[in-house]
Amino acid sequence: MSRFLSDRLSGLEPYVPGEQPKDGSILVKLNTNESPFPPSEKAVAAVAEEGKNMRLYSDPNGTALKEKLSQVYGLDPCCFVLANGSDEILDFAFQAFADDLHPAAFPDVTYGFYPVFARKYGIPYREIPLKDDFTLDPENYIGTGETLFIANPNAPTGIALERQVLERIISSNPDHVVVVDEAYVDFGGESCIELVNKFDNLLVTRTYSKSRSMAGARLGFGACCPELARDLESVRNSTNPYNVNRMTLAAGAAALDDEAYTKKCCAEIIRVRDKTAKELQTLGFSVLPSSANFLFVKNPKISGADLYAALRRRGILVRHFSLPRIEDFNRVTVGTAEQMKIFLDNVKQILEEIKK
Ligand code: PMP
Repeated sequence: MSRFLSDRLSGLEPYVPGEQPKDGSILVKLNTNESPFPPSEKAVAAVAEEGKNMRLYSDPNGTALKEKLSQVYGLDPCCFVLANGSDEILDFAFQAFADDLHPAAFPDVTYGFYPVFARKYGIPYREIPLKDDFTLDPENYIGTGETLFIANPNAPTGIALERQVLERIISSNPDHVVVVDEAYVDFGGESCIELVNKFDNLLVTRTYSKSRSMAGARLGFGACCPELARDLESVRNSTNPYNVNRMTLAAGAAALDDEAYTKKCCAEIIRVRDKTAKELQTLGFSVLPSSANFLFVKNPKISGADLYAALRRRGILVRHFSLPRIEDFNRVTVGTAEQMKIFLDNVKQILEEIKK
């Protein structure tokens, strides 16, 4: 910390993203929930074409993309707010809708960025414990008087809530915004996007990073009623009106012309996920029921930290969190069938070795 850093930020503990290795030692990368499949060819072509115009700023309103989103999701274009990844929409939501009078609340085991945003803006927050089996007890979220952040499916557990449960939570908190983070919803969750026309306190956040194979393009969006969208737009326009670059805007619109491709990729990930889960169970792992593109797993014979390290030595990268309640687990992104075979073969060998 330099002597110039503002007191306001002196206690900042930044979010630590998963590793993006560059040394070539990693053969199979299963640590940051990226898609193992390439983006739509239409999106790739759109980036190349739009790159020719990069001397010009991007459209600060993202009009063309919002119109496409409107067709795909059946909401008015003014219900969408575009962002540089869904992390940015979440950041805007903390700024816009949480403060001393509207403290934030979220599960104790969830996306690690929520407490970071809250602390960055000095927003009081409460972590609501999940049950022992890592499911969420909806009763803890009824009429709490807090701005709620609920990832559905949750991360890193992968466990999903039914839409009707979220609807009960949303309707019981009419004077507070409920943010439903649907980063992983395309892998088997029930989306709340269709509730946006019904509730003026609902913000759904979505990303192109997972199901649309575009993590590196950085594109996310919020879907909410026009009044909430206007609030988010004023935070966005007070931060960076050109937050989404023109190549990404073009790729985002082109990807929506290729929904069949996205669905095909998701179906394959779900197939490989469920097969991998069964095989891990045969090897003695507990596997939480996942509706996402990752599995959260633990084995009584080896600690989460040791399995992470042993896999890493073999060129396979998964994610381990040294955090209370989940340090015994590893989060394994679902890759291709070939990648998961390599992963499983190595897990088997590691378990054989520790038997000796
Ligand atoms: N929400 C959840 C639950 C996530 O796991 C992630 C990915 N780290 C994000 C939001 C943000 O993803 P992105 O900024 O790439 O859209």
